[in-house]
Amino acid sequence: MNILGIDFEDWYHPQLVQPYITTEKKPTMFQGMDKILELLNKNETSATFFLVGELLYDNPELLDKIIDNGHEIAFHTMHHDRLDSSNFSEKFDDELDEFDNLSDGKSKGFRAPTFSLNQNSSWLIDKLEKHHYVYDSSIVPAKSDLYGMPTAQEGPYRISQNSLDKNDINGKIIEFPLAIKKFFGKKIPAAGGFYLRSLPMKITKNTIKNYEKNNIPATFFIHSWELTPEFMPDIALPFKPNFVTFHNIKKAYSRMNELLENFDFTSFENYMETNSL
Ligand SMILES: [Zn+2]
Repeated sequence: MNILGIDFEDWYHPQLVQPYITTEKKPTMFQGMDKILELLNKNETSATFFLVGELLYDNPELLDKIIDNGHEIAFHTMHHDRLDSSNFSEKFDDELDEFDNLSDGKSKGFRAPTFSLNQNSSWLIDKLEKHHYVYDSSIVPAKSDLYGMPTAQEGPYRISQNSLDKNDINGKIIEFPLAIKKFFGKKIPAAGGFYLRSLPMKITKNTIKNYEKNNIPATFFIHSWELTPEFMPDIALPFKPNFVTFHNIKKAYSRMNELLENFDFTSFENYMETNSL
């Protein structure tokens, strides 16, 4: 069994897009929720929605749609700030309380924007513990331009503030690292998003098969805006951010569908219950 997390955020949230926004930040992605639910429903898959909290102010119905359709809600910060951005650690307790109110206390898991959990933001884990969170999925055990912790374990482990990359038997939070692929001795991220759009499907499928063979879950992610790019406004980006954000974006939905047709995926809490974690 593998795990699917959908990072539900709006067109103005991705880190690579933020510096180039010139128009009003008006939410549009809520319009794609029904199409995403349909994709999951037809494949009989439950998923976890890591939601950027501020979206619930404009569209509180997103919470009901997620829960009523048998999925789970989790936290992706209130405004999609990187954890290592200045003063964010002081704001985070209030953000957790705010999201708890907005989501009826249903969130038990967290994912850092741009996978920005690293040595500079290890304070996160203590705060999650204090707020009774039970899992996190912010670590990519391979290096990319924007993130990555290549020393991290590949299967789920108990994470702590002093042990971000290895099991700590006293840790209270379960970390679900994102799936990676070993390629001629090098580790590359292979867990969805840009990598699902860019890597040949054969490699992505082999990645999942490899995790299944080793009896650990392949943890995958996809963004709301990748599944419903029709609600993404035209944004003029320089070459590289444009490539990373939009390359093959129209193929993301069908590729995700193909994975859901071929492999078993479920949500995080469901996985933890089934596997007594
Ligand atoms: Zn995000």
